[in-house]
Amino acid sequence: MKHRAFSFVALFFSLILAAPLFTAEIDPKLKQGEELLDAWRTAQAEELAANWLRENPKSPVALDLDARTKFYQGRYSEALATIDRALAVDSSDKRRQGWKLLTQFTLDVVKTLKRYESAHFVVFLDEKRDGILASFALETLEKSYEAIGAELGYYPKDKVRVEIAPDAAAFNAISTPLSQRDIEETGAVGICKFNKLMIISPRALSFGYRWADSLSHEYLHYAIVALSNNQAPIWLHEGMARFYETRWRRPSPAKDAAEDYLTPANQTLLVRALEKNQFIGFKKMEPSLIHLETPEQVQLAYAEAASAVDFINRSKGGAGVRELLATIVDRPSPRSSIGRRQRRSRKFSACRSALLKRRGKAFSRAKVSRKSKAATCASLK
Ligand SMILES: [Zn+2]
Repeated sequence: MKHRAFSFVALFFSLILAAPLFTAEIDPKLKQGEELLDAWRTAQAEELAANWLRENPKSPVALDLDARTKFYQGRYSEALATIDRALAVDSSDKRRQGWKLLTQFTLDVVKTLKRYESAHFVVFLDEKRDGILASFALETLEKSYEAIGAELGYYPKDKVRVEIAPDAAAFNAISTPLSQRDIEETGAVGICKFNKLMIISPRALSFGYRWADSLSHEYLHYAIVALSNNQAPIWLHEGMARFYETRWRRPSPAKDAAEDYLTPANQTLLVRALEKNQFIGFKKMEPSLIHLETPEQVQLAYAEAASAVDFINRSKGGAGVRELLATIVDRPSPRSSIGRRQRRSRKFSACRSALLKRRGKAFSRAKVSRKSKAATCASLK
């Protein structure tokens, strides 16, 4: 997620879609299908739904999976018609009602947008208000496709869907998991979910934002989900997305990669965290950075996570991150390997803390030296 609206509608969605957490157990087959969809394995989910419906054509839960699959494929009208068939059998399921609303709202937004296409992406945006972004968005995405492909070895087979919401209301409607606080306070401007990338138009913000980097950032999340079978922890997601988001326009990174991913404000946050020993633990970053208490904490978390990815990159090169992602994919965790993994994890945490401290100290020294320089100049005047 990249950090900026939420109305009660979105809060309603969040509660409804999460309903099974505190109500009835979710059907195991539907759960299996949803897990496939959340790892972008739509063809497998489609097959599962088709077989299920062949056995039981009127099962509302099978229809739910079929509708969900169509939604993830961007076939919103068909998804809506399928949900209506499920609701005709059982209209009391709160989660099904929530999905109907999300599908309807998404359809209402997307039917006003125009489709633009390149070799590997399909972008939907408001032709009148945002038409000027179309060719630049596709060019950025194609460059990201090449740059990220070269770094991570990932080239999606199907074209990736991108929706650029023309305003905050539209962004709210399609980006369900975000709350008004997420968008207003933490400045969330993009999200990768439902097998697509979504950002808000830079025209909708008073001062705009680095929207091209945000597109690239969300594309990285897309790649990480596919490469890790949706198993990557948030710190790795956000760390990699921040670390690599500028790679589309800087194919060879700066000598000190931190220049690309750490703004002066981020450096100050790291220095302060070092002085007070108040780094944010990786566990606290789950399930999303948007749940952290302040915008400063969100930025600090990004800086820490990207520094950790920088650390892996320095130690093992680009292969280090690829290896890490490969070990995450559906790996059974036999008891014999747990101790080794815990030892490795402790060693990684210790090394990462050392890097953060070194980086923090370097920034502190740079600040002091800038201060002394300023004092010298002032005294010469
Ligand atoms: Zn992100």
